[in-house]
Amino acid sequence: MSMPTQPETWGGQCDNGRRQSPIDLTQAAAVRGEFAPFQFNNYKLPIKQAQLVNTGHSVQVNNADPAVSLQGGGLPGRFVLDQMHFHWGSEHTIAGVRYGLELHMVHHDARYPTLNDAAAVRNGVAVLGILFHVTAQPNMHIGVILDTVADVRMEVGKGAPLKGKLSPYNLLPKNLTTYFRYEGSLTTPACAEAVLWTVFPESIGVSLEQVEKFKDIHDQSGQQLLNNFRSLQPLNARALVYATEWDQMSRGQATILRPGLLALLTLVTLCTKILLH
Ligand SMILES: [Zn+2]
Repeated sequence: MSMPTQPETWGGQCDNGRRQSPIDLTQAAAVRGEFAPFQFNNYKLPIKQAQLVNTGHSVQVNNADPAVSLQGGGLPGRFVLDQMHFHWGSEHTIAGVRYGLELHMVHHDARYPTLNDAAAVRNGVAVLGILFHVTAQPNMHIGVILDTVADVRMEVGKGAPLKGKLSPYNLLPKNLTTYFRYEGSLTTPACAEAVLWTVFPESIGVSLEQVEKFKDIHDQSGQQLLNNFRSLQPLNARALVYATEWDQMSRGQATILRPGLLALLTLVTLCTKILLH
């Protein structure tokens, strides 16, 4: 198996948490939301001294430049990009459909010194989830990463310089105003419930051959990582928000949801409390 152990034996919040990730994302389970547009600071610049690392459960590109950051989109402040890694077999599903690949862009709240510190705080981490569907055409930006996989595939912890330039912006879908938003967790132990998730329903193309190439990565025990997605977790009492840009026609109805995510979460919490008493 791909994971160090099965989810059932990961322990702690992985087993007992009520706000775990990934989840299935459906518009039917979601409430509609509207947030300010995302602001992607320096995402169009190539990552400086980019290294590809075999972490034993994925391949990861680290970013050390704190100027690469994200704000807006309903996030409570500015979030610094720490790293990007992949899951083959997407972790989130959309209306039950799994995608070939899911990219996670992991950020921490700039008010905390490190990702580790921010992961101890609710909403201290913001992850963008980008889904890839299979097409005939290879994705040249994924190609840059795969060209380097051969250098790190057999050795966990090993890093190698990326064989080409990679700008985070080139790995984002075109539509950055439509997305699912919910409060969840990291999907590897210790599954800290610190993550504000953003998953875009618009997927990007990648060839089947490219998806297969990720399976060259080997884990700590020398086994091929055939897949590395965590099983779906229950939504429980959480609000799932589907954010879109409003058209003028829907403005009237939109007013109800204007108070935003916090008000919705408060409402859900209140309802849960009432039901439990
Ligand atoms: Zn991930």
